[in-house]
Amino acid sequence: METHTKLQEKDIRLIGKFVEVYCAGKHGTGERSLFCLPAGLGERRLCAECAEFMAYAVARRMKCPLEAEKPSCKHCRTHCYNKTNLAKVKEIMAYSGKKLMLRGRLDYIWHYFF
Ligand SMILES: [Zn+2]
Repeated sequence: METHTKLQEKDIRLIGKFVEVYCAGKHGTGERSLFCLPAGLGERRLCAECAEFMAYAVARRMKCPLEAEKPSCKHCRTHCYNKTNLAKVKEIMAYSGKKLMLRGRLDYIWHYFF
């Protein structure tokens, strides 16, 4: 059985939200299927491309060894993600961050940008 911490659950829930907002805004009305987050963290509706990225992001986060001393995933990712996915996560964060900010969801923004 996989073990995970509260911090991992929080990060995975957050990245799930960000990817879903990005997908809904950027990828129009294309085919979407349910992506099941691990550890009973719920489901997100994502297109195939975003589901693939999400699986990668979740896998990285579950494996991240820098639990306690990690300042935030924003910094950690620069070492942890490969080039393609790093560019992608930056785009997703920027896009969804702006959207969530407009909706007043500052609780989401706080963790990632400050
Ligand atoms: Zn998508």
